[in-house]
Amino acid sequence: MSYTVSPDIKTALDSLLNQQKVAKALAWAEQDQNRCIAEQQELTAVEAPTFHEEQRAALFAQKMQEVGLSNVEIDGGGNVIGVRKGAGNGPSILLEAHMDTVFPFGSVPSVELKEDGFLYGPGVSDNTRGLAMILSVVRALDASGIQTHGDLILAGTTREEGRGGMEGVKALFKERRGAIDASISIDSGRMANIIYEATGLRTVEVNFYGVGGHAYGAFGKVANCLHAAARAAAKIADFQVPAEPRTTFCVSNIHGGNQAGVHAIPQQATIIINYRSNSPEVLADLDQRIFNAIREACDEETKRWGQDVITWDSKLYCDIPAGTQDIHSPIIEGLHSVIGSLGLTPVFLRGGATNCSIAIAEGIPAVCMSSYYSPDGVEYNTMDHTLAEKYPVAGAYKGVQAALLTALLCTGAEGLPSILRP
Ligand SMILES: [Zn+2]
Repeated sequence: MSYTVSPDIKTALDSLLNQQKVAKALAWAEQDQNRCIAEQQELTAVEAPTFHEEQRAALFAQKMQEVGLSNVEIDGGGNVIGVRKGAGNGPSILLEAHMDTVFPFGSVPSVELKEDGFLYGPGVSDNTRGLAMILSVVRALDASGIQTHGDLILAGTTREEGRGGMEGVKALFKERRGAIDASISIDSGRMANIIYEATGLRTVEVNFYGVGGHAYGAFGKVANCLHAAARAAAKIADFQVPAEPRTTFCVSNIHGGNQAGVHAIPQQATIIINYRSNSPEVLADLDQRIFNAIREACDEETKRWGQDVITWDSKLYCDIPAGTQDIHSPIIEGLHSVIGSLGLTPVFLRGGATNCSIAIAEGIPAVCMSSYYSPDGVEYNTMDHTLAEKYPVAGAYKGVQAALLTALLCTGAEGLPSILRP
């Protein structure tokens, strides 16, 4: 895809790169690499399963204080927030990374740098790297004495993964409504990647209920709620969805009955369904088809026996709205130029399920950048969300440089207005 960055964004980055203080900050970020990796290691060792981020949050808050951020607080959503004050004449920019991981307590026996040049530990790539990067960005700005125009709001956020449903960053935007002008998320992946869209995502639990009974004695006298759940799953399994905009569905759980009741018609059965689309319309349509399938399944099972009525209810676990923004929005062009200036060819990813989705839904210019460095044409499998997760250390500081430059373009700094306010 051919993509041209507008001349004013190019000029803004060039003049930023020509500033001595900025050159100093970039050099500092490189020198800070070992310390940054050590902090990544330390943060990974303090486990933070989704909904249980408190200990990691406490450590991250302490580290934010150590780097000299003012007003470090843990907000109502459990997010750790610190502010690096600007001169007061520019937009406020959020730079955030999520603290939670998909691993239960006891999954991280050690975090080790091995001879192959990778740092190993569950959560090390997704997403303690992002947290360590934020600290390094602040140190580099301070060491070079850069004064931004707008405030830089730094945050470690909660509940991004799984059933957390990005509730941490949702709470953050709610508490600070109107106080954030643009948002930069850092998440795992190859540094050349740019995420600027939101894949809509819903996860629902559907429960089916019946009177139940003896598998033999009550046969023919009652309908079977587990059969209704299976009918619903089978209907959903046959759905056709468009390849573009990318749309997916998955019955991720089906259960009912219990071990003791292997000769019983169950009284309750459950299915959990996750479905996603890059188009809000297609997602809404899929939503309707899923609930139609559930209603039909209950009706068919009820009718099959002419006895009992299978009923159902549902619980919404996650609801992330689909959305996109102008691919030539200044923040996106800004990150694109920054990645190019660091010697990489930027790659736009379509869709996305990162905290950036929530900013997009709030109508805030936003982008999600990725955190590991690899030369053009090289991609590592960092095994995210597995116990074998790893992070490549060589050149990692370039990610810090990218975050720093993108943030500066947005806040504006001495002699350079924010690209968000031309
Ligand atoms: Zn992540």
